[in-house]
Amino acid sequence: MINQIYIENEIKDHPRVQSILKKFKRKNPIFIDKYASVFNKKNQNFRIQKKYPSLILSQKKTSYVLKTPADFGIGNSHNFYFSHMYNCLYDCEYCFLQGMYSSADYVLFVNFEDFEEEIKEKISFLKNDKVTFFSGYDCDSLAFEKVSGFVKYFLPIFKKFPNADIELRTKSTQVDPLFSMEPISNCVVAFSLMPTEIAKKVDHKAPSIEKRINTISELASMGWKIGLRFDPLIHGENWKILYSNLFENVFKKIDKKVIHSITLGPLRFPKNMFKKIISMNPKSKLLSDTLVLRGNKISYSNGIEQEMQSFCTGLLKDYSPETLFFSCKGNF
Ligand code: SF4
Repeated sequence: MINQIYIENEIKDHPRVQSILKKFKRKNPIFIDKYASVFNKKNQNFRIQKKYPSLILSQKKTSYVLKTPADFGIGNSHNFYFSHMYNCLYDCEYCFLQGMYSSADYVLFVNFEDFEEEIKEKISFLKNDKVTFFSGYDCDSLAFEKVSGFVKYFLPIFKKFPNADIELRTKSTQVDPLFSMEPISNCVVAFSLMPTEIAKKVDHKAPSIEKRINTISELASMGWKIGLRFDPLIHGENWKILYSNLFENVFKKIDKKVIHSITLGPLRFPKNMFKKIISMNPKSKLLSDTLVLRGNKISYSNGIEQEMQSFCTGLLKDYSPETLFFSCKGNF
């Protein structure tokens, strides 16, 4: 799974690095000065690296917690995101990370304590205002948990601050830390979903939709708050039937009381990343299909986007109150 391990010299004795190394006993790490010397190298091939990714253990030095764009949120007045990791185990065809980074290697920032400090500062500055922290922007929040211990570290911190929600965004069914903890009322476990028939074609390496729904159902029955993320909405043959079936399957298995929020997001790519993404996936039907330039984004035409949004919203209203619906269009 991991080709090579790189470690920044400055953190070679960090306890989290030592504990991660115990999980890769047969690997001989290479020590480097800065993660960027490996991660930002020129002439890397993202697609080849995706098959043999390396793990780079680093420490983040600045900008631990950032503001999301204005149109990104799930109900609270303040919204931030933070990235303890760059890149992801999965390989979704629409993933913008392949356009953002020149490397498919995983960068894991081990200095969780510095993220924690800045999160606490934000919470304390905002006093009793409700705030959401999004954790799965540059990676999947749970897919690398066995190595990173990210959720295990951060959930007990959030438990102490009920006015601060944390969203774990995932497609993973490896949710062991959640199965072994009491649900935390300010944690939203948000699963990305799309119809099975479409996911089979574009959600490469990710758990099947059926497995994701079963995991959601188990977490829901324990009392974890669930977010449903139909993002991106994918157009294609029979899309109306496929989405109707998906919603029916999801709500058949999940107690509606535990749904925290539902978001619908259009398929969208920042214009400057799209060229790179399509050059790496020249045979992708998804990327060549009916996408147009709209402002600084590549997306479906306004007509398709609006039709999908209103059709899906209409169906979802049968299952859930509209107050739980949010539209997250930001690519921050
Ligand atoms: S799960 Fe998310 S972060 Fe991972 S490859 Fe898919 S879209 Fe990208």
